Amino acid sequence: MGAARNTRQKQMVYDALVRLDHPTATQVYACVHEEHPTVSRGTVFRVLSGFAESGQVRRVNLFGSDARYDHTLAPHAHGRCRVCGWVQDVFLPDFAAIAAGAASDGFCIEGCEVEFYGVCAACSEKQMRESANEA
Ligand SMILES: [Zn+2]
Ligand SMILES: [Zn+2]
Repeated sequence: MGAARNTRQKQMVYDALVRLDHPTATQVYACVHEEHPTVSRGTVFRVLSGFAESGQVRRVNLFGSDARYDHTLAPHAHGRCRVCGWVQDVFLPDFAAIAAGAASDGFCIEGCEVEFYGVCAACSEKQMRESANEA
């Protein structure tokens, strides 16, 4: 594989990842493949693993979900909608202090996932509309 082609494929995968917002590898592949049918699933998965290993993107393991890829590297938590599955970023002001607390008794922290679950704004609005119609 040529270096130029390699760079182009990496860029495509990265762009799809940013556009999709916390996608799984399968979702990234579907998106890239739609525009560039010659790019294989293996290539997309390999590029994503490479990004995660080099720290260019963060691999997020949420409970009961395939790994997702996140281009936001600043420490943050996630909120996941149990209705539509959408994952949103949650920035907690005291995140660093909480991590420092966990490390205080000599525990060496290598990473963390904080996940809130519930219903996203769009889904709760929809639910509200539907229950209003029923009434
Ligand atoms: Zn939702
Ligand atoms: Zn995120």
